[in-house]
Order: sequence, then C-alpha cells, then structure tokens
Amino acid sequence: MTQQLSILVHTPAHSQVAGTLSYLSERALAPGTLVRVPLGRRETLGIVWDAATQNQAEVETSRLRPVAAALDALAPLSPAWRQLVDFAASYYQRAAGEIALAALPPQLRELSSEQLARRLKRPSATGAARAVGAPTLTPEQAAVLDQIEAQAGPFLLFGATGSGKTEVYLRCVQTLLERDPQAQALVMVPEINLTPQLEERFAARFGAEVVVSLHSGMTNPQRLKSWLAAHSGAARIVLGTRMAVFASLPRLRLVVVDEEHDPSYKQQEGARYSARDLAVYRGKQEGAKVILGSATPSLESWYHSRPAAEGGRYVRLLMPSRVGDGGALPLVRRVDMNHQPKHAVFSPPLLEAIKARVTKGEQSMVFLNRRGYAPVLHCSDCDWKSECPHCSAYRVFHKIDRTLRCHHCGFTERVPRACPGCGSPDIRPMGRGTEQLEEQLGALLADVQRPDGTPVRIVRIDADTTKLKGELEAQLAQVHAGEVDVLVGTQMIAKGHDFRRITLVAAANPDSALFSSDFRAPERLFSLLMQAAGRAGRDAGISAQSEMWVQTHHPTHPLYENLKKHDYPAFAAQQLKEREQAGLPPYSFQALVRAEARTQETAQAFLNAASALGTEAAAALNVTLYPAVPMSVQRVANVERAQMLIESPSRAALQRFLAGWHEVLHEVRQGPEGKGLIRWAVDVDPLTI
Ligand code: ADP
Ligand code: ZN
Ligand code: ZN
Repeated sequence: MTQQLSILVHTPAHSQVAGTLSYLSERALAPGTLVRVPLGRRETLGIVWDAATQNQAEVETSRLRPVAAALDALAPLSPAWRQLVDFAASYYQRAAGEIALAALPPQLRELSSEQLARRLKRPSATGAARAVGAPTLTPEQAAVLDQIEAQAGPFLLFGATGSGKTEVYLRCVQTLLERDPQAQALVMVPEINLTPQLEERFAARFGAEVVVSLHSGMTNPQRLKSWLAAHSGAARIVLGTRMAVFASLPRLRLVVVDEEHDPSYKQQEGARYSARDLAVYRGKQEGAKVILGSATPSLESWYHSRPAAEGGRYVRLLMPSRVGDGGALPLVRRVDMNHQPKHAVFSPPLLEAIKARVTKGEQSMVFLNRRGYAPVLHCSDCDWKSECPHCSAYRVFHKIDRTLRCHHCGFTERVPRACPGCGSPDIRPMGRGTEQLEEQLGALLADVQRPDGTPVRIVRIDADTTKLKGELEAQLAQVHAGEVDVLVGTQMIAKGHDFRRITLVAAANPDSALFSSDFRAPERLFSLLMQAAGRAGRDAGISAQSEMWVQTHHPTHPLYENLKKHDYPAFAAQQLKEREQAGLPPYSFQALVRAEARTQETAQAFLNAASALGTEAAAALNVTLYPAVPMSVQRVANVERAQMLIESPSRAALQRFLAGWHEVLHEVRQGPEGKGLIRWAVDVDPLTI
C-alpha cells in the first residue's frame, strides 16, 4: 500500500518551505530513516520526519512524487536526535531541514544504501574500551568525581588551568564505559587545533579504536567514517568541535564541554546556535550527564551555578589547585605604562625579564590582539588614513609584503609610495600589530644569546602565518621542541595549548577591552588573560618561577586587581553586579535581527517596519524592541548593515515573541519595506551586540 511520508529536506534559509515535504512510498519507512527524494529537478537527501511537524499546505496525493530511494542500511536517526533538531530550529529561528542536513556528513548525499552497507561492515571498532595508564587522583579530583557520581547535574567544573580537568573527564568516561558496555560519551572542545592533543590523550587511555573525532577540518571521507562509527555505536567516545553536538549518538550518556566559556561554541553564521547550550539541552533530554568545564566560566554558566537555594540550576564543582608539588599559579606583574618611555612597545622591565628567560634557556610568549604591522596607515600632513573603500574600517598595514589589507572584505592593495590625499611622502603606521611586535623584539633582542651561545629565536603565530594547512602544527611543534625562545602572536596562542616550557607570558597592550562598548569585552579579556597565564609554568617543576606580565595604562583597574589575585569569583561577582544593574544577560535575554542592504536606510526601514508590526505583541509579553541602528562595522564589502535588539527578562517570553514575529518578518520582506534588502537573520542569545 502506498504511504504518504513527511520528509525533512534542506531548503534555502527563509524559503517558504520551512518544515517537511510530503512524498509517497511503497513501503512504510520509520521516522529517522534517510532517503533520497526528488526536489525540483534534482535529487536530494532527506530524513523521514515525524508527521507532527508537517506544515505544508494540503496537497492532492495524486500530485505527490515518490521517494527515490531509502538508505535503510543505516539505522534511523533516533527520536532524541530528531527532537534536538526540532528544538534547535525553533529556538534559533531556522528551518529544521537546514540544521538537520548540515549535521550530516556531506558524503551521505552521494552514496547508495549498498555502498553505505559495505562501509558499515568494515570492521572499524570492537567497541570494547579498556582504560590504561590512569594516574592516582588528586584529592580535589576524587572529591569532584564523587559529586558527579552522586548527583544528576548539569555540572560546572570550575578548575584552575592545570588542575586536572581533563583527567576528570577521562575518569567520568572510564566509569561510564565500564558500567555500561554500550554507552557513548561526547567531549567537545572549542577549536579544531585542540582536538589532536585531546584525541591523543583519549586514545592513549582507551585505545584508538573506540575514539573518533568530528570537526570541520576533516575531509569528507574522514567525516563520514567518524559519523558512521558514532551512529552505529561502534565509537564509544566522540571528540569534536561545536558541530559535534549534532552527532548521532544513539547511546549518549555523558557530554563534556571543555572551555565552556569559549565564544567559538557559538556558530556565527547560518543557524547561530550555541553548542554549549544545546549540549545542556541534549543531556537533559537524553538522560546524559553534562559537565561544563572552565577556569573562567562564562558569566551565564557561573550565574546558573549559584546555590540552588538562590535559584541555581547547575552544580558547581571546584578544583582550585594545580596538579603537582609547587604547582603554583604564575605571578601576575603589571607594568604601569604611564611611567615608561612614550610609545614603547616593550617596557624596559618586560624586555629585561624576557632577556633573562632567553639566557636561561626558558621560553616566553607575548601576545597582542591584532595581526599585521599596524592597524592603520596615516598621513600627518592631510590626515589621510588607510580606509577601505568598501567597508567602514581601516585597512591594516602588512609590512612583510607591503600591502594594505582589509580584514573585513579582503580588499588588498600595494602600499602607496606617497599619500593618496596630498602626495606627502610622510605616511606612517599608527598603532601596532603582531608583525611589528616581532620586528621590534628581533631588534631589541639582537645580541641576546641562548645558553649554548646561539642567537635568540623568535617565531610569530597568527592567522597570517598559519594560512596553509599544517603550518600551525609545524610552528607549534617547533615551540614544543624548544626550538623557539620567544613566541609572538595573537590570542590564538593564548588559548588551550599545552606549552610546557613557557615560563613568561606577556599581554602587550590589552587595555582597549576595558572601555569597549561591548558589555562582554571585560569578560573576554579576563578570560583570555587567565587562560594566557595558565600557559605559563605548566610543568610543575618550573611553575614556581613563572610570570604573567600585563602592560597597562590602568594598573589599578579592578579587572587587573582580580587577575593579580587569580580571583575569578571576585571578578564574576563584580561583573554580575554591573550586569544586574544594567539589566543585561544573564539577567535578561536578547536576540538581534540583522539586516543587510545597499543603503543603511533600506536595511533600517525593513527592521523598523517589522518592529512596528510587532509592538503590540512585544508589549503584551514584556519584550522590548529597540530601534534599528547601524552595526558597529556598518559597511562591509559595500553592503550596509543594520541591527535591532530585542530584549526580555524572560527567556520564554522572548521565545514566544520571536516565534510569532517570524511570519511578520517574512511578510515585511515580501512587501515594499523589503525592497532592496539583501538578507536578514535572527541571532538568538547573540555574543556580540
Ligand atoms: P586542565 O585540563 O585542568 O588544564 P589537565 O587535565 O590537562 O588540566 O592536567 C594538567 C596536567 O596534570 C597534565 O599533564 C595531566 O597529565 C596532569 N595530571 C592530571 N591529573 C593528574 C593526577 N591525578 N596525577 C598526576 N598528574 C596529573
Ligand atoms: Zn596626506
Ligand atoms: Zn573592506
């Protein structure tokens, strides 16, 4: 008998087909089954979906097209997985088809059921995990593990860098796998380049055959292989970046989100989901324990882990000490730049400290949150600046290839010989980037020698030096091998890497975040500096002498005072107080609607028209709609960008408002105010305002 099935397919964002399409099938196919179906003139991958989500207008059965093929060599995607997709779609205001299909490995689109069956048969994993080489737990680790065992969570593991959080994750996984011969664990990290290190540790402990990775840096065949191993249950441990939160894990019992504060967990295009928040949701739905770990938790998670009596929902676990004897945290030294030579990139005391480390054969790391040589080129005669003709931003001066490059649209030109405004030859770089840091340090340390009498070696790591595949790994290997004395770079070097031999870390110029209009800037800075400090002295043997240097014009700023004391709770308390007074997250909930058009007026007109139609509903729900404003970088690649903030003290109210208002946005898009609009998108729980 012919059946009518609801099939989820990937349709373009915001198309009218937001949910499922109806198809005919000769036989019954269970929800979750992957199928190939005709869509227009092509054939596409689809998933049999639960009929309840069907929103297509009634179609005469006679006009429906049949399913082309069912990939039933694969077990159907589980109800829990489908629920995760539906939840993410409704929460983040995107089509379920977009989210579901993006979560599947691209190669599934190309293979037939028979080909898949063959791949599944290949003996990939035995599934039996055996743990070897576990160290004796520290008392703090043991206490934390007891609590995780005894309670349901979710847990926020607040542990200093080097306190042995990863060991806690390993033990939780071990306990789980020993207890349940089929259980699966998902362990997430914020960045692709942190996965190899983690994979090594997990594979060493449990055997490589039960561990797979999932991240966007993998080839399509690799991704398919990992995905199939997870989906079939052969892989017991899945390590990955934010996309891994959507992995098909039929026996998921544990979810770990390491460095949970990291903004990389938020997808910044398409469906702008937070993998951390979805992990918490998923764990709850599927009965899996969730552990969020960080030395500097996000203020949201910190707030959620306040005592239950005050409304906290997470269990806060503490590991304040570093592993090992004398595993002290580095000494934080502030250099008051008001008392240093004007325009000095490196203050004399910092320079002396670095020199001393080099002569002793120790490594230092200096970071600056700006790549290139200088953020802008300037003419002192006519005030010309190296603006990008296509963006409301300056082009960055890169001295190495003598170019001016726009970091927003990529527009690149040779540096002019004379000022394009007045012809003056006196054009100069203003401010500084990592290239300049490297150059200056090279000059300042020119006659410093390593213990063996060879000259000092400096290496720079930033987005410019690591464009090619494998370059970052090669550079990191140099650092690990001790071939580098001073490492210069952007914040990418300050995060997560386990640099055992670095004893001095310096932030060259971190002040700008103190006065940023972005209310999250201090949180990010504090976290970055704490993480960076955590890079120093990872070897207990040398940590006693390790130091974190901060060059600042505001040495007594509370943020630096708290950093000096390594006092995240004090910092968080002070920030949360400010946020509460200002009614900012986590005391309120936000969404942004962004619009892009050729003119700023068009972009704003669209937002304001939609806003006018939402005023009544917003008022009834205690939701505030703010007027449309230009985005902070207003124009990129000749496209004008505007945004509108929506805020409510209640998450549920905000969700209800957005759900109803979505239709309105579509309608305005089709109407006169949508004319000339290039695109629009909603960002729920945005990380940058
Ligand atoms: P974190 O993830 O908190 O930064 P790690 O788990 O990476 O810390 O641990 C820091 C270092 O201490 C690692 O080299 C790890 O192997 C080691 N370590 C962790 N727990 C123990 C332990 N119980 N005994 C000995 N060494 C440990
Ligand atoms: Zn000029
Ligand atoms: Zn540009």
